[in-house]
Amino acid sequence: MLVRFWGTRGSLPAPLNYLAVRSKIRDALVAARGENLSSDQAIEAFIDRLPFPTRGTYGGNSSCVELVTGGDEYLLCDLGSGVREFGNRVLGKYGPGQPRRYHVFLSHLHWDHIMGFPFFTPAYIPGNVIRIYGSHKVMREALERQQSNPTFPVDFRTLGATIEFVELEPGRSYDIVGGVSVRSFVQNHAGNSYGYRFSHQNKIVVYSTDSEHKYETLDKTYPFVEHFRDADLLIFDAMYSLAEQISVKEDWGHSSNIVGVELAQLAGAKHLVMFHHEPIHDDHMLERILAETRRYAEINDPGRKLTITSAYDGLEIPV
Ligand SMILES: [Zn+2]
Ligand SMILES: [Zn+2]
Repeated sequence: MLVRFWGTRGSLPAPLNYLAVRSKIRDALVAARGENLSSDQAIEAFIDRLPFPTRGTYGGNSSCVELVTGGDEYLLCDLGSGVREFGNRVLGKYGPGQPRRYHVFLSHLHWDHIMGFPFFTPAYIPGNVIRIYGSHKVMREALERQQSNPTFPVDFRTLGATIEFVELEPGRSYDIVGGVSVRSFVQNHAGNSYGYRFSHQNKIVVYSTDSEHKYETLDKTYPFVEHFRDADLLIFDAMYSLAEQISVKEDWGHSSNIVGVELAQLAGAKHLVMFHHEPIHDDHMLERILAETRRYAEINDPGRKLTITSAYDGLEIPV
């Protein structure tokens, strides 16, 4: 399996402005002083050595993650603004003449998790089939409402693709397609959200965003330890720092990097991916949080090898 991140920002897309781009160029030029960059190869190698906030960005699109399993049907989590680029990639590969099938798992219906759908071009093309799974009874209503007069020019009901809704029962296991099975679980978030535990060829990927865990309730019996058990990849809502989560932002429905490490270690997960980044955190801040999280994990459980990554748009992780 391969997991591809199309949108990793929380709450609202957060694109870079020109000042941020300019400061990256400046940092790169400062680092280039005294370097011999006379060949293209030397330039590429130099870029690879730059710190991530200089050579890249954590990205601006809201939640959308693709699970690539080798089959010819697509599997996605959430329809944040990242789904627009995903749709363009598929169309670029196959063109509009070859219909495809899409399976989409919705965590919940907050705007940042559905806002990309009106810009998902495959939805406009007859022959495509888009099956949307979730546990909220108002999935169709929410998508229809965001794509209707006066907030959007093209009405949801006129879309060319066949769009189906499948209501899942949390806790029950379903075979989806191509040997992928999934089990959902309810999460603490305003109006509830749902996490998904996918398995395919003995590999486990858990998608758990928009979910608040209280630090003081974490122990071996906490239900999420079972949901995350032995995950090869755990995509986790680490929107805040612990200090933010237990003070001003308590009960805002999101978790911290520290809670993510605690849960990943309790569950024996192998790889923790911090996801749903706070829009006010810039690339340098996210890089600092990543370094602190790795240090915390080492101190907290020195014997265990937990890989920690901070998700960015365009990231691909083989599982
Ligand atoms: Zn969200
Ligand atoms: Zn939410």
